[in-house]
Amino acid sequence: MQTQAYAAFDATSPLVPHTIDRRETGANDIQIEILFCGVCHSDIHQVKNEWNGTTYPIVPGHEVVGKVTQIGTAVTRYQLGDILGVGCFVDSCRTCNPCKEGEENFCEGAVTWTYNSKPAGASLPTYGGYSKLMVVDEQYALRVDPNMDLSRVAPLLCAGITTYSPLKHWKVGKGTKLAVLGLGGLGHMAVKFGVAFGAEVTVLSSSDKKHDDALELGAKYFVNYNKVGESDCFKNYFDLIIDSVSAPHDLNFFLSLLGKDGTVVLLGIPPTNVDFNHRSVISKRRSLSGSSIGGTKETQEMLDYCAANNIYSDVEVISLSEINTAYERMLNNDVKYRFVIDLNR
Ligand code: NAP
Ligand code: ZN
Ligand code: ZN
Repeated sequence: MQTQAYAAFDATSPLVPHTIDRRETGANDIQIEILFCGVCHSDIHQVKNEWNGTTYPIVPGHEVVGKVTQIGTAVTRYQLGDILGVGCFVDSCRTCNPCKEGEENFCEGAVTWTYNSKPAGASLPTYGGYSKLMVVDEQYALRVDPNMDLSRVAPLLCAGITTYSPLKHWKVGKGTKLAVLGLGGLGHMAVKFGVAFGAEVTVLSSSDKKHDDALELGAKYFVNYNKVGESDCFKNYFDLIIDSVSAPHDLNFFLSLLGKDGTVVLLGIPPTNVDFNHRSVISKRRSLSGSSIGGTKETQEMLDYCAANNIYSDVEVISLSEINTAYERMLNNDVKYRFVIDLNR
């Protein structure tokens, strides 16, 4: 079945309208009409082939909220008209322990990503949410409360779960000195969850311009780490730093802001790796770790938590034809704090 989309045909040209094929709705599948799709910096990295391995044409988009328009004969969880979400992956091996436990993000076999993935035996690559329709196995869809503000829900499917998951894993709560490094799409969600969990939140940012926003989001402190002297009183201070920066940066400096047994959690995936000094972690028994999105179980938990606690992404809604301008603005750090495509605009 054919549907309209936007695709990139190489690493340097703008995205353009493109018609793609979607598979027919199989027994366990649901077909959704996509309502909203968030724009993640991972989309830009992959469109520009910054992680290598991009297959063109690529249709990005893994923060999808849609409405069920068809259900397969064996579908049990969803009905026509239900609202649901699709995040970063649409299949996995289903047999390894992480898969059985709903942590498919850590699958030991093959994960099928929502876009730019070619599962064994499939004739078509996966295409993401910059499109009107999608077909997905019901097991990899998430339930969304239809009463929520759906444009503001879409970014929860990646930015939301990617920050919620490490905060839960590292038991962030009352008494935690949490720093969020990089106030972008991921970063602003990390601040919201950190505040909701009761932590003392500090935003570490590369300029002064997000100072007021950070405090409005609930951060207690704001540090422009490029300003001489501004971070001095935060040496050896934090328990956890959530690092969401999309460009290469000096890890040794940020590790030095951790107290004893503190951890820097890498979320950002810059195009090139950075060196770090062994002494940065040996000193004060610090840890350097990372975290990758979250599984279906925890993503559902996060969506339900957001519904119950009125937590949403702060978004700027655009039409699909505005995607290239949105990318430029993201690269210039000019978005508050997530672009979301309205597929009906
Ligand atoms: P984003 O909205 O563009 O935000 C990135 C932030 O990084 C910016 O707001 C900025 O914060 C900071 N930054 C950007 N360029 C910088 C530079 N040259 N020097 C210093 N700071 C800079 O991006 P996002 O969508 O949140 O994604 C962030 C990263 O996480 C990307 O690399 C993305 O691929 C990755 N990601 C990883 C996962 C995962 O599972 N681990 C999931 C989703 C995304 P300030 O203005 O505050 O400095
Ligand atoms: Zn993403
Ligand atoms: Zn698996």
